Amino acid sequence: MRTLGEFVREEGVLDWLGESIGRIIDQATEAVREGARRKLVPMASCFTCTTPWCCSVMVVVGLHEGVLIASALRASQRDTPELRADLRARAEAMAGKTPDEWRRPEWRRQCVFLNERGRCSVYAVRPRSCGTAYVFSPPEWCRGDEPERKLQVNIQRREALEGEQIEEQFRERLALRKKVGRRYIGTLPHMVLVALEAWDRTDFRDYLRQLPWPTLEEVRRWLPPDRGAQPATT
Ligand code: SF4
Ligand code: SF4
Repeated sequence: MRTLGEFVREEGVLDWLGESIGRIIDQATEAVREGARRKLVPMASCFTCTTPWCCSVMVVVGLHEGVLIASALRASQRDTPELRADLRARAEAMAGKTPDEWRRPEWRRQCVFLNERGRCSVYAVRPRSCGTAYVFSPPEWCRGDEPERKLQVNIQRREALEGEQIEEQFRERLALRKKVGRRYIGTLPHMVLVALEAWDRTDFRDYLRQLPWPTLEEVRRWLPPDRGAQPATT
């Protein structure tokens, strides 16, 4: 019996995830640049922004993205009890809140992976939503101090669809039971913590199966509605 870590490495799942998510991010980046070149949308503020206010938002990811980040943390000896405690505390703080609620100054906190230089410390394996959410409004609006100012964010319909396909292919490759009416997704700290806790288990399928995965109704509270045109407000 192999552990989760052994399985995803030996079966090529990690390489496939890294390539697949990286391709979606590259594709979104090129689409935003091309839109600006053709003057369909303004140049995204993110290309010149130096202050990552966005790394305080609630990021919702698939278990597969948590597994990819967990692999990088394990490979660089960053899976420590302190990190797990931090992930757990943040996951508990986010539980039951919507992304809008999390943006309030009294709740929001910087992402656990933002380093002291204001850089993403898991950049090479960052989640799809982090790499594709380009903003066209002024960067300081992203801070969230003035909630009445609606951010202009690129629509990610194609990227979201491709992300869901990867989520499903990952479930199949791991032979995880299909959860009718539920998805293997959650907040970023929660999914990374789940992946780390499953990493050395040979019974990882049973372990993952019994966790309280969100219903589609709960997922809808996390994810923005499809607004059909770009750039969109959020
Ligand atoms: S989303 Fe906002 S804060 Fe983040 S990089 Fe883009 S402009 Fe800057
Ligand atoms: S994973 Fe990286 S890019 Fe995403 S919110 Fe955290 S620090 Fe920012």
